[in-house]
Amino acid sequence: MLKKIDHLGIAVKDLDAVRKFYTEFLELPDAGEEEVPEQKVRVAFFPIGETKIELLEPTSPESPIAKFLESKGEGIHHVSFAVDNITEALLKLKEKGIRLIDEVPRRGAHGAKIAFIHPKASSGVLIELCEHTEHEEA
Ligand code: ZN
Repeated sequence: MLKKIDHLGIAVKDLDAVRKFYTEFLELPDAGEEEVPEQKVRVAFFPIGETKIELLEPTSPESPIAKFLESKGEGIHHVSFAVDNITEALLKLKEKGIRLIDEVPRRGAHGAKIAFIHPKASSGVLIELCEHTEHEEA
C-alpha cells in the first residue's frame, strides 16, 4: 500500500530563515514554494534522494500549523507516505478500524491528493498519505 516516504513535514515560524539553513548550510536544492490556501500554509520543498523535506509556515492563526506551533513549538509535524491510490488506501484503513482525520482526500501542495491518519491511531505520529497526480508541477 505504501511506496516510500514521500516527505517529512516540519512546522516552522519563519520559512525564509529556515530555508537558508537547509539550502546554505545543509546544501539541499530548493524546489520552490507554494501557498496552500486549503490548509492556510506556505510550504517549501527541499529534495533529498527519493524523498523531500517540507517546511510549513502558517499564513493565518487559524492554520493547523499555527495551532501545532503554539502547543508544541517548531519541529517535525508529519511523515508523509506516498500511495498509488489514496481513496483505496483510506477505504482499507477505515475497514481496519483506523481512525482518520480525513476520510476524503483533500488538496495538498503541487495538486497532490493528501489525507491524514489520526495521530491517536499511530502512537502520536501524524501520518499523511499522499497521491501525486500526473499534472502536478515538478
Ligand atoms: Zn506534507
